[in-house]
Amino acid sequence: MEIRILSHTPNPELIVALAARQSWSSKKVEDLKKELTPEKVSSFLRKLYKMHHLSPFEHANFTFLVEGISRVTSHQLVRHRIASYTQQSQRHVEVTEGKFVVPETIKNKSSTHSLYTKAVKSAVSIYKKLINEGVPLEDARYVLPSSVTTRIIFTMNARELLHFFKLRTCIAAQWEIRKVAEEMLKLVKEIAPNLFYYAGPPCVEGICPEKKFCELFKKYYKKKS
Ligand SMILES: Cc1cc2nc3c(=O)[nH]c(=O)nc-3n(C[C@H](O)[C@H](O)[C@H](O)COP(=O)(O)OP(=O)(O)OC[C@H]3O[C@@H](n4cnc5c(N)ncnc54)[C@H](O)[C@@H]3O)c2cc1C
Repeated sequence: MEIRILSHTPNPELIVALAARQSWSSKKVEDLKKELTPEKVSSFLRKLYKMHHLSPFEHANFTFLVEGISRVTSHQLVRHRIASYTQQSQRHVEVTEGKFVVPETIKNKSSTHSLYTKAVKSAVSIYKKLINEGVPLEDARYVLPSSVTTRIIFTMNARELLHFFKLRTCIAAQWEIRKVAEEMLKLVKEIAPNLFYYAGPPCVEGICPEKKFCELFKKYYKKKS
Protein backbone atom coordinates (compact mmCIF):
# COMPACT_ATOMS: atom_id res chain seq x y z
CA MET A 1 0.00 0.00 0.00
CA GLU A 2 1.04 3.61 -0.52
CA ILE A 3 -0.12 6.47 1.65
CA ARG A 4 0.62 10.15 1.14
CA ILE A 5 -0.69 13.48 2.34
CA LEU A 6 -1.67 15.42 -0.77
CA SER A 7 -2.46 18.68 0.99
CA HIS A 8 -3.30 20.14 4.38
CA THR A 9 -4.36 23.38 6.03
CA PRO A 10 -1.35 25.72 6.11
CA ASN A 11 -0.04 26.24 9.67
CA PRO A 12 -2.59 23.76 11.07
CA GLU A 13 -1.39 24.09 14.68
CA LEU A 14 -1.49 27.88 14.63
CA ILE A 15 -4.99 28.07 13.13
CA VAL A 16 -6.39 25.67 15.74
CA ALA A 17 -4.71 27.54 18.62
CA LEU A 18 -5.82 30.90 17.24
CA ALA A 19 -9.43 29.77 16.82
CA ALA A 20 -9.54 28.59 20.44
CA ARG A 21 -7.66 31.62 21.83
CA GLN A 22 -9.93 34.18 20.15
CA SER A 23 -13.04 32.51 21.54
CA TRP A 24 -11.91 33.53 25.05
CA SER A 25 -10.48 36.97 24.24
CA SER A 26 -11.62 40.46 23.26
CA LYS A 27 -8.22 41.20 21.68
CA LYS A 28 -7.82 41.55 17.92
CA VAL A 29 -7.07 38.28 16.12
CA GLU A 30 -3.90 39.77 14.59
CA ASP A 31 -2.61 40.66 18.08
CA LEU A 32 -3.43 37.21 19.42
CA LYS A 33 -1.59 35.69 16.47
CA LYS A 34 1.56 37.66 17.38
CA GLU A 35 1.34 36.39 20.97
CA LEU A 36 1.11 32.77 19.88
CA THR A 37 4.76 31.71 19.83
CA PRO A 38 5.50 28.08 18.85
CA GLU A 39 6.01 27.22 22.56
CA LYS A 40 2.64 28.73 23.49
CA VAL A 41 0.91 26.94 20.60
CA SER A 42 2.42 23.65 21.70
CA SER A 43 1.33 23.86 25.36
CA PHE A 44 -2.05 25.40 24.48
CA LEU A 45 -2.96 22.61 22.06
CA ARG A 46 -2.19 19.95 24.66
CA LYS A 47 -4.26 21.88 27.22
CA LEU A 48 -7.20 22.08 24.78
CA TYR A 49 -7.07 18.32 24.25
CA LYS A 50 -6.99 17.63 27.98
CA MET A 51 -10.01 19.95 28.45
CA HIS A 52 -11.89 18.08 25.66
CA HIS A 53 -12.24 21.43 23.90
CA LEU A 54 -11.95 19.78 20.51
CA SER A 55 -14.08 21.83 18.13
CA PRO A 56 -11.11 24.12 17.24
CA PHE A 57 -9.32 20.99 15.96
CA GLU A 58 -11.90 20.88 13.18
CA HIS A 59 -10.19 23.83 11.45
CA ALA A 60 -7.19 21.73 10.41
CA ASN A 61 -7.79 19.50 7.39
CA PHE A 62 -5.60 16.80 5.88
CA THR A 63 -6.13 15.20 2.46
CA PHE A 64 -4.72 11.68 2.00
CA LEU A 65 -4.10 9.49 -1.01
CA VAL A 66 -4.22 5.78 -0.23
CA GLU A 67 -3.42 3.26 -2.94
CA GLY A 68 -3.21 -0.51 -2.95
CA ILE A 69 -5.54 -1.28 -0.05
CA SER A 70 -8.24 -3.91 -0.39
CA ARG A 71 -11.90 -3.11 -0.77
CA VAL A 72 -12.32 -4.83 2.62
CA THR A 73 -10.32 -2.02 4.15
CA SER A 74 -11.73 0.83 2.08
CA HIS A 75 -15.18 -0.29 3.25
CA GLN A 76 -14.02 -0.06 6.88
CA LEU A 77 -12.47 3.34 6.16
CA VAL A 78 -15.57 4.92 4.65
CA ARG A 79 -17.62 3.99 7.73
CA HIS A 80 -16.00 7.08 9.26
CA ARG A 81 -18.61 9.64 8.38
CA ILE A 82 -16.96 12.93 9.29
CA ALA A 83 -14.81 12.94 6.17
CA SER A 84 -14.96 13.41 2.39
CA TYR A 85 -14.10 10.52 0.07
CA THR A 86 -13.48 10.01 -3.64
CA GLN A 87 -12.70 6.43 -4.67
CA GLN A 88 -11.56 5.03 -8.01
CA SER A 89 -14.62 3.63 -9.75
CA GLN A 90 -14.84 -0.02 -10.78
CA ARG A 91 -17.61 1.10 -13.13
CA HIS A 92 -15.03 2.97 -15.21
CA VAL A 93 -11.66 1.36 -14.46
CA GLU A 94 -11.11 -2.28 -15.38
CA VAL A 95 -9.53 -4.51 -12.74
CA THR A 96 -6.31 -6.24 -13.79
CA GLU A 97 -4.58 -9.35 -12.49
CA GLY A 98 -2.11 -8.98 -9.64
CA LYS A 99 -4.19 -6.27 -7.95
CA PHE A 100 -5.22 -8.27 -4.91
CA VAL A 101 -4.17 -8.08 -1.27
CA VAL A 102 -2.99 -11.37 0.21
CA PRO A 103 -3.24 -11.55 4.03
CA GLU A 104 -0.16 -12.93 5.81
CA THR A 105 -2.24 -15.75 7.36
CA ILE A 106 -2.90 -16.99 3.84
CA LYS A 107 0.48 -16.12 2.34
CA ASN A 108 2.61 -17.83 4.98
CA LYS A 109 1.46 -21.37 4.13
CA SER A 110 1.92 -22.74 0.61
CA SER A 111 -1.33 -24.76 0.67
CA THR A 112 -3.52 -21.79 1.67
CA HIS A 113 -1.61 -19.45 -0.66
CA SER A 114 -2.19 -21.72 -3.62
CA LEU A 115 -5.91 -22.13 -2.78
CA TYR A 116 -6.21 -18.34 -2.59
CA THR A 117 -4.31 -17.72 -5.85
CA LYS A 118 -6.49 -20.28 -7.62
CA ALA A 119 -9.70 -18.59 -6.44
CA VAL A 120 -8.53 -15.09 -7.41
CA LYS A 121 -7.24 -16.24 -10.83
CA SER A 122 -10.52 -17.96 -11.52
CA ALA A 123 -12.53 -14.87 -10.50
CA VAL A 124 -10.40 -12.58 -12.69
CA SER A 125 -10.66 -14.97 -15.62
CA ILE A 126 -14.47 -15.11 -15.34
CA TYR A 127 -14.56 -11.29 -14.91
CA LYS A 128 -12.66 -10.92 -18.20
CA LYS A 129 -14.86 -13.47 -19.98
CA LEU A 130 -18.00 -11.60 -18.84
CA ILE A 131 -16.57 -8.31 -20.19
CA ASN A 132 -15.72 -10.02 -23.49
CA GLU A 133 -19.33 -11.25 -23.63
CA GLY A 134 -20.46 -7.63 -23.44
CA VAL A 135 -21.29 -7.43 -19.72
CA PRO A 136 -20.53 -3.87 -18.51
CA LEU A 137 -17.66 -3.37 -16.02
CA GLU A 138 -20.14 -2.33 -13.33
CA ASP A 139 -21.81 -5.76 -13.48
CA ALA A 140 -18.81 -7.96 -14.27
CA ARG A 141 -17.19 -6.75 -11.03
CA TYR A 142 -19.74 -8.70 -9.00
CA VAL A 143 -17.54 -11.78 -9.37
CA LEU A 144 -14.46 -10.08 -7.92
CA PRO A 145 -13.27 -10.87 -4.40
CA SER A 146 -13.16 -8.04 -1.85
CA SER A 147 -9.39 -8.43 -1.66
CA VAL A 148 -9.20 -6.45 -4.93
CA THR A 149 -7.17 -3.28 -4.45
CA THR A 150 -8.47 0.25 -4.70
CA ARG A 151 -7.35 3.86 -4.67
CA ILE A 152 -9.06 6.51 -2.56
CA ILE A 153 -8.56 10.18 -1.76
CA PHE A 154 -10.10 11.48 1.44
CA THR A 155 -10.06 14.50 3.69
CA MET A 156 -10.44 14.43 7.45
CA ASN A 157 -10.11 17.18 10.00
CA ALA A 158 -7.85 16.80 13.04
CA ARG A 159 -10.74 16.10 15.42
CA GLU A 160 -12.01 13.24 13.27
CA LEU A 161 -8.46 11.98 12.81
CA LEU A 162 -8.00 11.78 16.60
CA HIS A 163 -11.19 9.72 16.78
CA PHE A 164 -10.16 7.58 13.77
CA PHE A 165 -6.72 6.87 15.28
CA LYS A 166 -8.32 5.89 18.60
CA LEU A 167 -10.42 3.22 16.88
CA ARG A 168 -8.16 2.10 14.08
CA THR A 169 -4.68 2.00 15.62
CA CYS A 170 -6.02 -0.19 18.43
CA ILE A 171 -5.25 -3.92 18.36
CA ALA A 172 -9.03 -4.49 18.06
CA ALA A 173 -8.94 -3.11 14.50
CA GLN A 174 -8.05 -5.43 11.63
CA TRP A 175 -4.38 -5.49 10.57
CA GLU A 176 -4.82 -3.78 7.20
CA ILE A 177 -6.74 -0.71 8.38
CA ARG A 178 -4.44 -0.58 11.41
CA LYS A 179 -1.49 -0.37 9.02
CA VAL A 180 -3.24 2.46 7.14
CA ALA A 181 -4.03 4.32 10.38
CA GLU A 182 -0.50 3.91 11.78
CA GLU A 183 1.02 5.29 8.57
CA MET A 184 -1.46 8.19 8.51
CA LEU A 185 -0.60 8.97 12.14
CA LYS A 186 3.12 8.99 11.32
CA LEU A 187 2.52 11.41 8.43
CA VAL A 188 0.32 13.88 10.33
CA LYS A 189 2.69 13.86 13.32
CA GLU A 190 5.50 15.04 11.03
CA ILE A 191 3.36 18.06 10.09
CA ALA A 192 1.56 18.79 13.36
CA PRO A 193 3.15 16.95 16.32
CA ASN A 194 1.27 18.98 18.92
CA LEU A 195 -2.16 18.55 17.33
CA PHE A 196 -1.59 14.79 17.45
CA TYR A 197 0.38 14.60 20.70
CA TYR A 198 -2.23 12.37 22.33
CA ALA A 199 -3.19 10.55 19.11
CA GLY A 200 -3.16 6.77 18.93
CA PRO A 201 -5.10 3.92 20.49
CA PRO A 202 -6.92 4.54 23.79
CA CYS A 203 -3.89 3.08 25.66
CA VAL A 204 -1.96 6.28 24.86
CA GLU A 205 -4.10 7.69 27.68
CA GLY A 206 -3.89 4.56 29.81
CA ILE A 207 -7.27 3.16 28.83
CA CYS A 208 -7.70 -0.34 27.38
CA PRO A 209 -11.37 -0.83 26.38
CA GLU A 210 -10.41 -4.26 25.07
CA LYS A 211 -9.02 -5.26 28.51
CA LYS A 212 -6.22 -7.05 26.65
CA PHE A 213 -3.30 -4.81 27.65
CA CYS A 214 -1.54 -6.08 24.54
CA GLU A 215 1.87 -5.25 23.05
CA LEU A 216 0.48 -1.92 21.86
CA PHE A 217 -0.36 -1.00 25.44
CA LYS A 218 3.29 -1.49 26.40
CA LYS A 219 4.41 0.45 23.32
CA TYR A 220 2.03 3.39 23.59
CA TYR A 221 1.19 3.80 27.25
CA LYS A 222 3.33 6.45 28.77
CA LYS A 223 1.94 9.07 31.11
CA LYS A 224 1.65 12.30 29.15
CA SER A 225 1.26 15.60 30.98
C1 LIG B 1 -12.71 -2.92 16.08
C2 LIG B 1 -13.90 -2.51 15.28
C3 LIG B 1 -14.87 -3.45 14.95
C4 LIG B 1 -16.01 -3.08 14.21
N1 LIG B 1 -16.95 -4.02 13.90
C5 LIG B 1 -18.07 -3.65 13.25
C6 LIG B 1 -19.10 -4.59 12.94
O1 LIG B 1 -19.01 -5.77 13.28
N2 LIG B 1 -20.19 -4.18 12.25
C7 LIG B 1 -20.34 -2.87 11.85
O2 LIG B 1 -21.35 -2.54 11.24
N3 LIG B 1 -19.38 -1.97 12.12
C8 LIG B 1 -18.26 -2.30 12.78
N4 LIG B 1 -17.29 -1.36 13.04
C9 LIG B 1 -17.47 0.00 12.55
C10 LIG B 1 -18.02 0.93 13.66
O3 LIG B 1 -19.27 0.49 14.11
C11 LIG B 1 -18.13 2.38 13.13
O4 LIG B 1 -19.05 2.43 12.07
C12 LIG B 1 -16.83 2.93 12.65
O5 LIG B 1 -15.78 2.60 13.52
C13 LIG B 1 -16.95 4.46 12.53
O6 LIG B 1 -16.85 5.01 13.81
P1 LIG B 1 -17.84 6.08 14.43
O7 LIG B 1 -19.25 5.79 14.07
O8 LIG B 1 -17.52 6.26 15.88
O9 LIG B 1 -17.32 7.39 13.87
P2 LIG B 1 -17.41 8.39 12.65
O10 LIG B 1 -18.38 8.01 11.59
O11 LIG B 1 -15.99 8.57 12.28
O12 LIG B 1 -17.99 9.64 13.40
C14 LIG B 1 -17.29 10.29 14.45
C15 LIG B 1 -18.23 10.56 15.61
O13 LIG B 1 -19.23 11.48 15.17
C16 LIG B 1 -20.45 11.18 15.82
N5 LIG B 1 -21.44 10.85 14.79
C17 LIG B 1 -21.21 10.65 13.47
N6 LIG B 1 -22.36 10.40 12.83
C18 LIG B 1 -23.33 10.43 13.77
C19 LIG B 1 -24.73 10.22 13.73
N7 LIG B 1 -25.38 9.94 12.62
N8 LIG B 1 -25.41 10.34 14.88
C20 LIG B 1 -24.79 10.63 16.04
N9 LIG B 1 -23.45 10.82 16.15
C21 LIG B 1 -22.74 10.72 15.03
C22 LIG B 1 -20.19 10.02 16.76
O14 LIG B 1 -19.86 10.53 18.02
C23 LIG B 1 -18.99 9.35 16.14
O15 LIG B 1 -18.23 8.59 17.07
C24 LIG B 1 -16.17 -1.72 13.79
C25 LIG B 1 -15.17 -0.79 14.12
C26 LIG B 1 -14.05 -1.16 14.85
C27 LIG B 1 -13.01 -0.12 15.17
